[in-house]
Formats: sequence, structure tokens, C-alpha cells
Amino acid sequence: MATAKGVALFSGGLDSILAFKVLQDQGIDVQGVTFETPFFNAARARATAERIGLPLTVLDITEEHLRMLRSPRYGYGKNLNPCIDCHTLMIRIAGRLMEERGADFVSTGEVLGQRPMSQGKQSLQVVAKNAGFPERLLRPLSAHLLPETAPEREGKVDRSRLLDISGRGRKRQMEMARSYGITSYPPPAGGCLLTDPLFTRRLRDLFAHHPGHGIRDIELLKAGRHFRLTAAVKAVVGRNAADNEAVERLAAPADALIRVREFPGPTVLVPGGGDEQTRLVAARLAARYSDAPRDRTVAVTCLLDGAQSSWMVLALPPAESALLLI
Ligand code: SF4
Repeated sequence: MATAKGVALFSGGLDSILAFKVLQDQGIDVQGVTFETPFFNAARARATAERIGLPLTVLDITEEHLRMLRSPRYGYGKNLNPCIDCHTLMIRIAGRLMEERGADFVSTGEVLGQRPMSQGKQSLQVVAKNAGFPERLLRPLSAHLLPETAPEREGKVDRSRLLDISGRGRKRQMEMARSYGITSYPPPAGGCLLTDPLFTRRLRDLFAHHPGHGIRDIELLKAGRHFRLTAAVKAVVGRNAADNEAVERLAAPADALIRVREFPGPTVLVPGGGDEQTRLVAARLAARYSDAPRDRTVAVTCLLDGAQSSWMVLALPPAESALLLI
């Protein structure tokens, strides 16, 4: 019989490693797939896949993910994490890879009941159905608690060698890790900015005020402090050298870049440039977060569309800047 082939969704976490090992033990030819967007990257999956010898395809799914993120059918978790729709999308894309490879199934490291929103029995079934190939979606770690799938019926996968793990405890997985000689693995979850309260507050603000936003605007949310100056204009204030560098790297010619002239301080970016009034507020924010004295005006420069202008401004009082903070 020809070797069975599978495409494994691979995060690099312990569950995804174990799901791969369980299939590999059966002699199945498994290829991993993982995804990148501005909200999460593939660094952990890449490093782990290399360590355990799993061939890995990394796909940038930013556009599809963003479309889904703006109006997820099953809503968000605690923050702006649309986990059910996100899993569905990832599995659907893995399904395309399954077809391209002529593989027999897609597998995941999901464990029934491990995460309340996305891994309850109903959620797992909804995801399987909406991804488009419920019969070919295998969850090796919880397979005995779920309906039998086509590759199991066809004898491509030996169901008796799959598992019945459920719940939030990690005892079984730790035991398996020991038996496989896996000594180091990253902690579960983490790494997705859509579960970060501060980041998602900024993202909600972006969605609400800048419907025409692009990837650059999302990347900017990762740096500095963010202030809403008017309904249409915001400012990003670097907190340190790395932020200032990121803000400068992401700046476009139509943005205003503001700095205090004679004192160390932040680079302040006004995406889209704003009007003179908002640029002045941004300049006062630059003074507020610089080392300049608070009791007198200081010189700031503003670069916009290749032209530089200078103003003398007074630092914005902390209470006023706090009101603008996103
Ligand atoms: S935590 Fe993030 S990456 Fe994971 S399923 Fe939820 S939205 Fe997707």
C-alpha cells in the first residue's frame, strides 16, 4: 500500500509536536504547515520543525486573515482574537495544500476541551465543517473522543494508535514528551498579538478611525505610545531608541516626523501628516516625552513631504496627554 500522506498544522508547541510524532510513528509521510501575519509569526514553528526534522511550509496569510478579522462569523474571544474563524481559515488553507500534495488528510494538535472558546467539542465540529472537509480533518491527540474520519476508515491511519486526550491538564502530554525524549518545548499559547489587551485597544481604534488602513498601519501599532489627536489623526511617540527606529523605518513621505531639537527625546510620527493644529499638538507631545525642561518653550522640527519646519512649543502637561492616550 502507498504511504499515507498528511499535512500537519504546526505551531511548534508541544501538542503540535506530539500530534506529528504520533503520525510519524505510524510511518505516515507528514509535512507541516504554519502561518504568518502581522499578529503572529512562524519563528517558533520554524525552529521546532528544524529540531524535530519536520519539513515545514510557511505561508503568509495576511490578506485573508485581515479580511476575516474585520468581521469574524463567530466573534472574538476576550480580546480581538477570532479563534474559531482563525482556526477555520488556517485549516481551510492547509486543505488547499493537502489537495496540491495529493495528501490524505490535514491534522492538528488540537486537544478537546483545552481552550474554552476554540476547542470545545462543538467548536471543533464547527471548524471542521466550515473549513470544508470534515471527513479529512484529523486530531490525533483527541481522535478517540471525536467521530472517525475518512483516512481512519480507509486504513491510511490506524485509529487504534491515536489518542483520547482531553481537557486543560498537561499531564498526559508531559508523559508523552518524556517518552519521546522531548526535553524542551515552549509554553502553551502566547505569541498572538490579538490576545494582547494593549495591542487590541490600538487595533480597535485603528479599525474605528482609519477604514483605509494598510499593513504598515498595523505594524505601527507595535511601536511606541499611541495618541488620538482628532477622529482622523493620531500620533505615535517612540518610547526608546528601538521604537524611534521602527517609527522612522515605517514613515511614509506624507507622514509628519517631529523631533525636539536640542534635547534627547522621541521621534513622533503623525501618519498622513495631519493639519498644522494637530502637528502642533504632536510637537507638544514630543516635548512632553523629551528631556527638555517643562517650564519653557523648546524648539522642535517637523519633516513633512521633504520640507522641514520649526516651532517653539511648550510640553503638553501629563494630564492632557493622558486624555489622548489610546
Ligand atoms: S490565538 Fe491568535 S493565532 Fe491563535 S487561533 Fe486565536 S486568533 Fe488565531
